[in-house]
Amino acid sequence: MKVMKFGGTSVGSIESLRNLRDIVKAEERPVIVVVSAMGGFTNQLLAMCEQAQQRDISCLDTLEQARKRHHGAIDGVVVESMRDEVHATIDRFIDESLKPYYLALATNPHMPVEEIGRVCDAIVAHGEILSSAIVTGMFEDGVPHLSLNYMRTVPDATGRVLDWEETERLVKEDFADLTQGIHVVQGFISRDKDTGDVTNLGRGGSDYTAAILATLLDAEALEIWTDVDGFMTADPRTHPDATVIPQMSYQQAQVMCDAGAKVIYPPTIAPVAMKKIPVWVKNTFNPSAPGTVII
Ligand code: ASP
Ligand code: MG
Repeated sequence: MKVMKFGGTSVGSIESLRNLRDIVKAEERPVIVVVSAMGGFTNQLLAMCEQAQQRDISCLDTLEQARKRHHGAIDGVVVESMRDEVHATIDRFIDESLKPYYLALATNPHMPVEEIGRVCDAIVAHGEILSSAIVTGMFEDGVPHLSLNYMRTVPDATGRVLDWEETERLVKEDFADLTQGIHVVQGFISRDKDTGDVTNLGRGGSDYTAAILATLLDAEALEIWTDVDGFMTADPRTHPDATVIPQMSYQQAQVMCDAGAKVIYPPTIAPVAMKKIPVWVKNTFNPSAPGTVII
């Protein structure tokens, strides 16, 4: 079984979602597909949190644009028999969850800071909740999973970290009969083990979600599908002669990620390195390119 993670640009447009569909359809089942929010939407959700706290209700206009964007994607890619249901799911999360959260922020000047933090964490989780509903609806054999049911974090000095033990127990329960189908999972999002509050694994954390699942479920490979051909020898914007690095070690990848290569979220490497699970970096927009393999 493989874990395939698709980033924001890979789920960001009808064209890229169609590429994703072709890539995933060609895979053997079962397969786990981890998705980010539609490109740019996480930033928007957070910017709207700021606006709402300033009592700037124009954030609701941005929310309507986002609604249109998601509905447009549904019409472009979701299988016909499931379209109505996915449209309704998107509307439900926007009308019954996001809107009330933004209104609460905008109309409650005395909301304690911790509560504001909790509300914004709950809001930002919707990027992946919405995109995963669309991606699940793209496949006749799409199986929805909810990361909030099994990804668990605990607070630590730097913010929060994964609770590996509890997450392992819950992941093994949730994926107990992983035999058939395309299992679609939200990247990034989690819950606090003790309070149950919605949390996340940090910006860019969908890669980490995919690595955690690959590690706990003994995947044969982890594929990170993105919008570049792989790790490059230099930044192609400043070094036009930069080339793709075909193969690297976990250690080399870790060094490059820590040094700021934006290709993979740094915490992703360690768990898969421990289990020696190969990691492929591949381009959703150029799937036949060989990519980079980290072994
Ligand atoms: N959507 C989240 C972010 O933009 C997580 C991710 O894409 O990996 O940071
Ligand atoms: Mg990323």
